[in-house]
Amino acid sequence: MTAAFCLFYFPRFRFAVPVIARVTLDLALGKEFDYLIPEELEDVVEVGARVKVPFAHRQVLGCVTALLETSPHPNLRPILKTIGRQSHVTPKILKLARWIADYYCCPPETALKSVLPEAVRKEKEGWREQLFVRALPEPETKPKLSARQREILELARAAKEMPLQDLLRQSGAAAQTLRRLEDKGLIHIAPQISERDPYARDIILPTRALALNAEQQRAVSEITGASGDGGADKPKPVFLLHGVTGSGKTEVYLQAIAHALERGRGAIVLVPEISLTPQTVERFKARFSAGSSGTLVAVLHSHLSAGERHDEWHKIRQGRARIVIGARSAVFAPVDPLGLIIVDEEHEHSYKQEEAPRYHARDVAVVRGRMEGAVVVLGSATPSMESYYNARKGKYRLLEMPDRADNKKMPIVRVVDMRAAARHEKGTPIFSPELKEAIHQRLERGEQTLLFLNRRGFATSLQCPLCGYVAECPNCSLALTYHRQAGRLRCHVCAHDVPVPAACPNPKCGNPAIRFAGMGTEKVEATLGKLFPRARVQRMDSDALKRKEDYRRILGDFGRGKTDILVGTQMIAKGLHFPNVTLVGIIYADLSLHAPDFRAGERTFQLLTQVSGRAGRGDVEGEVFVQAFTPFHPAIQYARRHDFNGFYDQEIEFRQQLKYPPVSRMALLLLTGRNEEKVKLSADHVKQEIEKRAAEVGDLIIAGPAPAPLARAETMYRYQIVLRTGRIARLGSALAALAGALNLPKGVKMIIDIDPVNLI
Ligand code: ADP
Ligand code: ZN
Repeated sequence: MTAAFCLFYFPRFRFAVPVIARVTLDLALGKEFDYLIPEELEDVVEVGARVKVPFAHRQVLGCVTALLETSPHPNLRPILKTIGRQSHVTPKILKLARWIADYYCCPPETALKSVLPEAVRKEKEGWREQLFVRALPEPETKPKLSARQREILELARAAKEMPLQDLLRQSGAAAQTLRRLEDKGLIHIAPQISERDPYARDIILPTRALALNAEQQRAVSEITGASGDGGADKPKPVFLLHGVTGSGKTEVYLQAIAHALERGRGAIVLVPEISLTPQTVERFKARFSAGSSGTLVAVLHSHLSAGERHDEWHKIRQGRARIVIGARSAVFAPVDPLGLIIVDEEHEHSYKQEEAPRYHARDVAVVRGRMEGAVVVLGSATPSMESYYNARKGKYRLLEMPDRADNKKMPIVRVVDMRAAARHEKGTPIFSPELKEAIHQRLERGEQTLLFLNRRGFATSLQCPLCGYVAECPNCSLALTYHRQAGRLRCHVCAHDVPVPAACPNPKCGNPAIRFAGMGTEKVEATLGKLFPRARVQRMDSDALKRKEDYRRILGDFGRGKTDILVGTQMIAKGLHFPNVTLVGIIYADLSLHAPDFRAGERTFQLLTQVSGRAGRGDVEGEVFVQAFTPFHPAIQYARRHDFNGFYDQEIEFRQQLKYPPVSRMALLLLTGRNEEKVKLSADHVKQEIEKRAAEVGDLIIAGPAPAPLARAETMYRYQIVLRTGRIARLGSALAALAGALNLPKGVKMIIDIDPVNLI
């Protein structure tokens, strides 16, 4: 062996340094590939690094998932370059992504994709560069300046450093003037990375920890006491904090976070997307970011621009922001070391991602907490059946806060039997006399009202009373909704959108007297206008929110008392805290009861309780009117009595009898395609294959195949097979194996959904 040869190879082989990287590509291939690590990249290619590699005749991005010394494949090609200065996915998050791929039966690249925001994954770095002006020390010989120039210089000096644009705006000067100051050696103008701060314009006043009441104190002590359990990285308990609306759960979160920070650890707070209001964010920023104490709170949600999301993510990755508040995907925020994960409103269905990987952020939080030795707190006024079941079985530790924090009373809930109201008026009224009277009183007293109806639009269908024609979506098995303001009929599944016909479109009919049936928020708003012409009414649903600022504006107006009545969909159901709201009206409580879903009762109970919780948060006691056609349904009656335990006990019995979750675990197989016959045959075939593997799983209940409740969506026919088992991990691996071996006809797709939330 020659010396040169030796020199070349020696450093690499002496410690058996890995020279091969296993890479998951950003392509849906369901497998990983090995690449050589060129010497110049040896120091930067690590597990989790984003890299660019050759693939066939292209160059693709990917993520390094392992470093190896040898590879079973010959003729490896080298990695071309690494992306970004900091490895993007930490080994801990990588491990979590692996768990997701296994548990939710999806390819590794799909799981990996979800753990990094799109804005961070890109090859080109997303930093924004901006020109900054920096004041330089005064030179020995003072140059002669005009009064104007001196004025501008003073501004620059006062700020020491500021964006050029800001200085131009503040001083009203021209760029030329600044260049002249630069020529004189008084200032320096250069590009710099400037971070976008989505909350920069907000003025947030700092808050201090409140004196806790006894129940809050007990919760905080238990949570903080558990954080030392068994050593830093050993698994910690999961808490279920069941506290009624207004019991002060947020203060418990805040103090638990403060404790995690004291121990040198960070925290993630998950909040459902729709409760991630400026108000919510502000409560966290006010405690930790405001004033000079400044621990950065990063915010991650879908309303941020890509650039803002990029910057927020890097603040976390660099360890500058140690508290993260965000929606579902914030569960992957690279906080390290992580001390605490809070999942607020843990029962919320939006924690489940409805595209692959179909993960549930609450469950991922529990797994991540276990992996990283972080305490997990699941909080809710209406815990999910799953979490409460786990608490009853001792898997989670239950913390109860049955009273409102500030001694405010729970609102009085009155259930109004709409069958009676319907008898008195022609057709179905929107407002019962009771609710009408209550609104009237509030207007007189200058108090505010929230009206809730979880359906947007004006009417739910267009019908012809002569021939029975109903306007349906051509792509979906669903009636079109009438939007009066827009003058359109729209499909709420595929967004199909047509003008309203002047007469019945049935060629054999043509009746000009077509009718609109059913109601939505738009109709509630219009009817209010007729009943209370002087009331200031605002509507909040996705139709009313056209621009990014609308959300803040509508809530802001309501908060400042510029609106008397706010009408809305589920957007107004949670997280809002307006002390002047003394009346809440639920227009049509049965709406969610009749959904073809075993969770319909649970969902209704949660919705009614949450919406009611918006009332009476100030000094005047709150009142809630629940209008229902099935007023004696248990979900409505238990909600009226604020009796979660009563509801749970009767609901769990029903689940036990029918072996539904949480008593069993569920997996949903959804087959879709344009050709109904093919879809149906494929579903039958899949069922046979599952039956063959049933013994592997052990206990398994197979229901279906049957057309899904929404039998056709976006031109696709949909068939379901519902599986229930006590052994979800085994079922998961059986399904993964099945999916791998399955040969579906062209045009038919199968979706595997583990622990499904949406059965429609
Ligand atoms: P939840 O999230 O449980 O619905 P919040 O955290 O919104 O309840 O608290 C409800 C109200 O009670 C808030 O106005 C909050 O400031 C107040 N509050 C919470 N804890 C205390 C406390 N210990 N003392 C006084 N007021 C409190
Ligand atoms: Zn449609």
